Amino acid sequence: MSKIALFPGSFDPFTIGHESIVRRALPLFDGITIAIGYNTNKKGFFPLNDRMKWIESVFQNDPKVTVVCYEGLTVDYCVSHGISYILRGLRTSADFEYERAIGQMNRAMHPKVETVFLLTQPEHTFIASTIVRDIILHGGDASRFLPSQIRI
Ligand code: ADP
Repeated sequence: MSKIALFPGSFDPFTIGHESIVRRALPLFDGITIAIGYNTNKKGFFPLNDRMKWIESVFQNDPKVTVVCYEGLTVDYCVSHGISYILRGLRTSADFEYERAIGQMNRAMHPKVETVFLLTQPEHTFIASTIVRDIILHGGDASRFLPSQIRI
């Protein structure tokens, strides 16, 4: 059975912090599915279609990476698609506390789905989609926080 990890997030937008987590996790898995979570009642900042196309362009030469959109519980998506691992990135102790609660809750619901955490590269610790969004919203240049393929 192939070892697939789901990397869920809003990726609004996808940053070099996200890219680094995926690239570093690639040798650990047979494939990584980047899953853009959405909520029909909560509009994201960038259109879902753009977010998807941007991420696909970053990994166009990596056949092990696929990009999907999903609504609903992440663990339910994993179970219904035969995915046994959830990949998450950790920047700070605040991330840890947030991820711990979600990871343990997910495990309580579906013990066969394990969450795997990678620590961010130190130079990516301060990079967050919310801040990047704010820079773009106010006309600043956020290009150095975005993968080179993503030009907003
Ligand atoms: P969510 O809305 O689920 O928090 P995000 O798109 O903000 O989604 O993040 C998705 C995942 O990427 C999370 O595990 C988050 O901790 C991680 N992440 C976000 N920014 C970085 C970064 N700069 N370095 C490493 N991991 C990151």
